[in-house]
Amino acid sequence: MSAPAAKPADQGSLFGLQDLPTPTRAEATSRIDELRRELEHHSYLYYAKDAPSISDAAYDSLMRELITLETEYPDLITPNSPTQRVGTTPDSQFASVEHAAKMYSLDNAMDLGELDAWMQRTTDALGHEPRFIAELKIDGSSIALTYRHGELIRAATRGDGRVGEDVTANIRTVRDVPLRLRSGLLASQAEIEVRGEVYLPKASFERINEAQEVASKPTFANPRNAAAGSLRQKDPAVTASRDLATFMYARSGDGEALAFETLATQHDFLATLTEAGFHVNPDVKICGSPVEVRAFCEKALTDRFDLPYEIDGVVVKVDDFAAQAVLGSTMRAPRWAIAYKFPPEEKTTVLRDIVVQVGRTGVLTPVAEFDPVTVAGSTIARATLHNAGEVRRKGVLIGDTIIVRKAGDVIPEVVGPVEGLRTGAERVFEMPATCPSCGAEVFHEEGEVALRCENITCPAQRFERLRHWTSRGAADIEGLGPEIITLLIEAGLVRDIADFYRLDYDDLVAVKTGRVLKDGTQQTFSPKNAAKLLEAIEGSVQAPFAKLLFGLGIRQVGARTAEDLTHRFGSIQALAAASADELSAVEGVGPVVANTIRDFFSVPANRELIDRLLACGVVLQREGGAQDLAGPGPLTGLTFVLTGALETMTRDEAGAALRALGAKTAGSVSKKTSYVVAGADAGSKYTKAVELGVPVLDEAQLQQILADPNADA
Ligand code: NAD
Repeated sequence: MSAPAAKPADQGSLFGLQDLPTPTRAEATSRIDELRRELEHHSYLYYAKDAPSISDAAYDSLMRELITLETEYPDLITPNSPTQRVGTTPDSQFASVEHAAKMYSLDNAMDLGELDAWMQRTTDALGHEPRFIAELKIDGSSIALTYRHGELIRAATRGDGRVGEDVTANIRTVRDVPLRLRSGLLASQAEIEVRGEVYLPKASFERINEAQEVASKPTFANPRNAAAGSLRQKDPAVTASRDLATFMYARSGDGEALAFETLATQHDFLATLTEAGFHVNPDVKICGSPVEVRAFCEKALTDRFDLPYEIDGVVVKVDDFAAQAVLGSTMRAPRWAIAYKFPPEEKTTVLRDIVVQVGRTGVLTPVAEFDPVTVAGSTIARATLHNAGEVRRKGVLIGDTIIVRKAGDVIPEVVGPVEGLRTGAERVFEMPATCPSCGAEVFHEEGEVALRCENITCPAQRFERLRHWTSRGAADIEGLGPEIITLLIEAGLVRDIADFYRLDYDDLVAVKTGRVLKDGTQQTFSPKNAAKLLEAIEGSVQAPFAKLLFGLGIRQVGARTAEDLTHRFGSIQALAAASADELSAVEGVGPVVANTIRDFFSVPANRELIDRLLACGVVLQREGGAQDLAGPGPLTGLTFVLTGALETMTRDEAGAALRALGAKTAGSVSKKTSYVVAGADAGSKYTKAVELGVPVLDEAQLQQILADPNADA
């Protein structure tokens, strides 16, 4: 059967482009041109240089797009299109070898559905269901070995399918390649060519890359490129050192002009190869039905990781040579075989936009929105880009063709752009100056990559802000946990923390709990719970100022800093009016924290919220007013370290009391420590104090100091 006119390779469903509108002819023409140039460039890097710059999956995805467009506009197909060609023209130091019969590539089935479609087409074309044979698809480099009267005379690479490179000297160093065939059918032929794969076992691949690294030479992207690179060495001694191996699986030609006509099937041929002394992969299955083919593919998918060499799929062939001859080949690949490729981890798609989301804690995150693609079994259309720095690092522009994958097979991730496909119409992404959720100004903190919205009333942060306010360390409102907060938000009763103080009994008893009662009505808040909750909220207006300040959730202001700030400034008004210098003078508040505090009070919505809290009776000032910690106290100049459990107070309380008297407290013991206060079960800090000769006080001595700080130590 003669080869038909140029026809696109088998494609099955339109990958990743399922729901997209068909491009116009003009759009298709220019995209086809761009894709061809890009694919040729990558083919060259891959085949001629053995150094691909994108993954096979990304390459396959671009190829798929080209196939899809060529299917849509078949008159745009040219014989030189990468869809019609095998490999690339070899540019090397090796002599060229013209193949007696063309060496083909294989068409791909990208999933089991496409594999089924191919088996169906094959059945239809033959008029009966053929027997299939499934073999592992070895991820190596094609090789053709010619034997004359049983002696190896030539080895050639596939090259562009018509002309390959003469690598005879190198292949002679590969240990499992028979230089002379064992007696039998193949050995008795005047001349025969057998084909297969030369590959690099995983362990050798790792070893070679380690050696390349030590020698500061470029490492190989994958075992396949390492195998091809090792085979195409000028010095056969280098090839010999690489531990290449082979699996042979094919005869030359399509079934016509066979020198050994007694063989009728692929499985007979494999047995003959073994008999002649070739290394043949044992993982082969003759399949009586498509169901068996699928089962083999599924098993290979899970078993692949246990194999000592890489496979990238399963090659399914029509077993019978006569049937193969009936089916024939296209310009690029036989019709009687197909490569079922394992689900790719990467695909290409078009980045339509980068939108900015505001997280629960106010962080602004750029998110890539792209045309939907199926990756590792599910459709993805969005992926986080984390922050502006990451967008720059990845170098993606809006409108780019991008490579996407699933990190750890779960989380969608943008790998990067395919820069060669840019048209000039792409746009640079910029982070907004205001929050997309509430419109407030956003801030960039020194030393931090993230941009944040500091507006405490920002809708995107609502739940987190409310939850933080009610928590133990803050306003500590008992009974107001995450579930109740959610119900109150859903009922439209609270939007920000000031709303808690406007709730009344009638509001609360109308709140639905989400549960349905036996009589079919919705359960609402019980009067008892409503009353308890109102009481707890009311009680919180008198909570210590330090805790309420902490509850406002000013970034970097933890419980301890809040306490120091309240000591120094006494009231929220004084704090809001403090300059950056005054703020930085407080212990534990450096210039960075001082700035975040200034940022917080610069947001109009925050000042307005504080006014509303005050209007609701929330007390935002310290009992006893400010106490200037920066000024001298009776214990100024002394540094205490607290360790172990105290009986009469917590360590935090003891620390606060000491600091109120002018002392410093520290978290670790050094020569500068004046005293270590050791409670029960004191550990390493106590030991360190003893080692350094720092005086250790017990709780009673601490109490004495607190009671009479002016007494002589
Ligand atoms: P292929 O690797 O997809 O499949 C064809 C080849 O499979 C055959 O030529 C043969 O060598 C091999 N094979 C392995 N086991 C076999 C078996 N049991 N029976 C028959 N054949 C078997 O096709 P290809 O033309 O060699 O290469 C195309 C692929 O190379 C692309 O799909 C892509 O993944 C990769 N590629 C990647 C880049 C890149 O930049 N990353 C560039 C070009 C090509």
